[in-house]
Amino acid sequence: MSPVVVLFRRDLRLADHPALTAAAASGAPVIPLYVWDDRAAGRDAKWATGSAQQWWIHHSLASLAEALAARGSKLTLRRGDASEEIAAVVADTGAKEVFWSHRYEPDLAMRDRSLRDSLSEIGVGVKAFGGALLHDPDQIRTGEGNPYRVFTPFYKRFQSVVEVNSPLAAPRALAAPSEWPESVRIDDLGLLPTINWADGFVETGTPGEGGAGDRIAEFVSAAVADYADGRDALASDATSRLSPHLALGELSPRQVWQAAQTGAGADAGSFLRQLVWREFAYHVLHHNPASDRHPLRSSFEAFPWADDDAALQTWQRGQTGYPIVDAAMRQLWTTGWMHNRARMVVASFLTKHLRIHWLRGAEWFWDTLVDADLANNSMGWQWSAGSGADAQPYFRVFNPILQGKKFDPDGAYVKRWLPKLSSVPTKYVHEPWKADAATLRRSGVVLGSDYPKPIVDHPEARKAALAAYQQMRG
Ligand SMILES: Cc1cc2nc3c(=O)[nH]c(=O)nc-3n(C[C@H](O)[C@H](O)[C@H](O)COP(=O)(O)OP(=O)(O)OC[C@H]3O[C@@H](n4cnc5c(N)ncnc54)[C@H](O)[C@@H]3O)c2cc1C
Repeated sequence: MSPVVVLFRRDLRLADHPALTAAAASGAPVIPLYVWDDRAAGRDAKWATGSAQQWWIHHSLASLAEALAARGSKLTLRRGDASEEIAAVVADTGAKEVFWSHRYEPDLAMRDRSLRDSLSEIGVGVKAFGGALLHDPDQIRTGEGNPYRVFTPFYKRFQSVVEVNSPLAAPRALAAPSEWPESVRIDDLGLLPTINWADGFVETGTPGEGGAGDRIAEFVSAAVADYADGRDALASDATSRLSPHLALGELSPRQVWQAAQTGAGADAGSFLRQLVWREFAYHVLHHNPASDRHPLRSSFEAFPWADDDAALQTWQRGQTGYPIVDAAMRQLWTTGWMHNRARMVVASFLTKHLRIHWLRGAEWFWDTLVDADLANNSMGWQWSAGSGADAQPYFRVFNPILQGKKFDPDGAYVKRWLPKLSSVPTKYVHEPWKADAATLRRSGVVLGSDYPKPIVDHPEARKAALAAYQQMRG
């Protein structure tokens, strides 16, 4: 029997993996394959996998290789052009079929179509399976037959038509071919950073299916019921931190859904709704394939964005002088992850206070997040910038001081990520420039040297943002 190649991409797991289950059930020898083809991540390499996520993938592949070995199988690793490498593996092994999980990012779906065509020319069949999403973006439509652009009606429709089935168990064993194809070593993929950067990433989670399983179990037993109340508190650990695991497919949304529902019943409602935001993000990207680069509201093409690299760098380095923004940017740099509320605050600050194009922010997130996900990132940025379909209006400008006071009332988050401010009294921790000289001296802070003065004045920046918005509207 000729072997079946199972191509792994952002589905680095064995459980609830329909393509792998089907390959195992076929009785044919199974060749699990991962190709590191960085160019393939985007049409013009714009969304080639970011550096932080490469670190995660390195460790996730090690975990996947181990899990496969425990089932008598082996992960074949290749580096290079995906279509050439897959064709070479197929030729070397005599495989007649390639199975993979369907990808919904428009560029990758397009690449899959051409890969399917080129494999078919050499007599190799392709079968694509679900698993990445809970819904098929082509199946959910409005009453008029259009895709959705607003979350709440999408959510209602989702609840009425989508049935979330039980996840599949991991195959117990996988038949091995008589000979394994050539493989490079994980280290040869060159995924680890060359600078000493990633030490803090472990705080975000343990890459791999095992780490993902531990995380969901812990979240369901300890936190999911309090999610609705705690999810906006910046210093608490109230959210699941499942995002890198979901982004790399170390566990499926179906597994998360079922675990939360079984573990917490009705108390899981608010958390499950958030998972549907992920579905919505994919729905929007699938039906608006340019929305990773272009505003969904086309009027925003004319927005007078500022071209200010110095300000962009100040934001990236967490040196804006607004503690909540700077703490969040340092959390991102250190751990590869940022709290959702903080993502909204820093994105608002970049696109409104600094009036820098949301794409510059999306690109920075893409490179520094371990959970970088094209659909979620594009939607999050467009929502924050006001250019998305169901977005926060541009004229609603988050006040970074009030956001800090509301979601980090005792300043614990700020003090954790900006230790220079750790002795500043709570009253001033979100606006240290308001403290008198003696208070600052007692706190050991010299503004402008220990911690920056605000890069912009909030009321003035707000006024300028609204003026720019008016200019766009003509
Ligand atoms: C500017 C901006 C950029 C973002 N970029 C990304 C990104 O690259 N990757 C990413 O996974 N998320 C992104 N998000 C969405 C959200 O911030 C993260 O999914 C969340 O913070 C991850 O933490 P968690 O796993 O603890 O989330 P939880 O609150 O525990 O939620 C569970 C899961 O639901 C999904 N989810 C939750 N909130 C959202 C949301 N608003 N939109 C879409 N899905 C959601 C995620 O898969 C998340 O892991 C972005 C949001 C903003 C505002």
